[in-house]
Amino acid sequence: MKKKSAALQALQDENTVHSSKCSAYGCPMWGSVAHETRPPYHMWCPVHFFCAPERTQAVTAELNKHLGLIDEIRKARHGLRDDRALLNQLFKLCDV
Ligand SMILES: [Zn+2]
Repeated sequence: MKKKSAALQALQDENTVHSSKCSAYGCPMWGSVAHETRPPYHMWCPVHFFCAPERTQAVTAELNKHLGLIDEIRKARHGLRDDRALLNQLFKLCDV
């Protein structure tokens, strides 16, 4: 069995702690944005929130290639540092 990368483990721990995973199946990011204005909310990561619905799976596959960058975003957020440049990089990589 393949060993999980430290970045993936950190992201899964993050999702466990906040229990708000992105609603896209298999997405390694946390959910932070909802389309709905009333419960039940489906939380999406910002990349899936802005991607075209037909590109959801392609975006998930791309996000899973950039776990290190996602971990950097998580660390920036925890450190209350500006993560916009990192997030913009992720949007470009996912063509969103
Ligand atoms: Zn997502």
